[in-house]
Amino acid sequence: MPAKTVNDIVALCKRRGFIFTGSEIYGGLGGAYDYGPYGVELMKNIRAAWWNAMIYSRNDIEGLDAAVITNRLLWKYSGHESSFSDPLVECKKCGARMRQDKMRDQTKCDNCGSTDLTPPRAYQLMMGLSIGATADGAINAYLRPETATTTYTNFKNVMDARPHKLPFGIAQIGKAFRNEISPRGFVFRMREFEQAEMQYFVNPADDEKYFEMWKEIRMAWWVNVLGIPAEKLRFTPHEKLAHYAKAAGDIEYEFPDGFDEVEGIHNRQDFDLGSHTKAQDEFNIQANVMDNRDSTTKLAYSDPQTGESFIPFVIETAMGVNRAMLAVMLDAYTEEDLGDGKSRVVLKLKPALAPVKAAVIPLARNVPELVNIANDIENDLRKLHIGRIEMENSGNIGKNYRRHDEIGTPVCITVDHQTIEDHTVTLRYRDSMQQERVAIADVPARVMEIINKNEK
Ligand code: ATP
Repeated sequence: MPAKTVNDIVALCKRRGFIFTGSEIYGGLGGAYDYGPYGVELMKNIRAAWWNAMIYSRNDIEGLDAAVITNRLLWKYSGHESSFSDPLVECKKCGARMRQDKMRDQTKCDNCGSTDLTPPRAYQLMMGLSIGATADGAINAYLRPETATTTYTNFKNVMDARPHKLPFGIAQIGKAFRNEISPRGFVFRMREFEQAEMQYFVNPADDEKYFEMWKEIRMAWWVNVLGIPAEKLRFTPHEKLAHYAKAAGDIEYEFPDGFDEVEGIHNRQDFDLGSHTKAQDEFNIQANVMDNRDSTTKLAYSDPQTGESFIPFVIETAMGVNRAMLAVMLDAYTEEDLGDGKSRVVLKLKPALAPVKAAVIPLARNVPELVNIANDIENDLRKLHIGRIEMENSGNIGKNYRRHDEIGTPVCITVDHQTIEDHTVTLRYRDSMQQERVAIADVPARVMEIINKNEK
């Protein structure tokens, strides 16, 4: 049985050390979460899987890690300062503040049902900063609300360092901040979150082809790399396009409450590079951009064959890493009835994503020979550099297996009294719960096989 509600995952995350409430001991802070020992591993593995697909498996995408604190002007010319807002409605009876487009019924308060509501007003989502010794409290910088804009403004820097012919991309993983009116759904909608975004720069004549290409590549990644069944994913085109978009849609995952966005794919035309470029008049910019007198750099591409200089179009893939982790956990979460009134919770993660790759369990902590052998196996496994290996301190084997099932460890290696006699150990597999005896010398190769097979 899969997770019935997000609350199943919330409880597991707290119990087993994946995700905690941010600022918890002081009562928390809405929309901020802290990632614990296993949460950081799962996030790191998802990031690595994305980076591997975007950078290491291709020769046309470069990596970037831009600053989170950004000059105001980026967001003036990107249009965020004037229009990155959500419609805020307040209930005059109970004081609840709601995002109008997400209300269950637009005429009634989500909290108390009252119809006495304020008219919607635009609520700025960017978090403004006042930085530097001269700061007088006025906003002079922003925490970026997306990674994308900081990629566009580095277009020329990256091109100068690593010249490419079109099409080529720049990928970035990093934090983004939005002052969401109502954070909800655990890590689904937060005020501080992480994005994995890629901007693919194309010749304007090829935009539709590459939009379709990236839709397919990204959908296949969710299925093949994250292991989400295809029937739990769908692509939904946006009904209403943003003014700069020529085409846009979302990859949606079927959460317990229904399908919702986990990644956006957008054809942003020449809006972004066109907005931030200097000498806009020299180019035939097609999108409706703000007149820019502040930019110091032309963000254009010179065709090596024709010598023509133009502003490329952008196809963007924009994934939320926290939402990806939530979807992966929801999907992997399984409650199994073991008969005789017994049951277990198991996180059926792909081994490549599992926070702990293998656990070594000496059956008795007070038998030095067993502990020494277990230590040796642990050290041998660490040398494989496959990620986190754990040594268990308690000999309560049932409890250990239960814990590792819940955090998704693909295999446990148990050292028992027979090990001293014949140098074999028990390998116990997470999903099948099957056990087999394996020679100690074969353990590292066996573990590698399990991790590389990468099947659930
Ligand atoms: P939404 O409509 O849900 O507010 P969006 O369309 O504004 O999202 P984008 O700006 O396209 O989102 O951001 C790309 C991705 O970043 C989203 O698909 C989502 O996975 C993630 N994301 C956006 N906002 C948040 C948030 N507040 N908390 C967590 N992840 C987010």
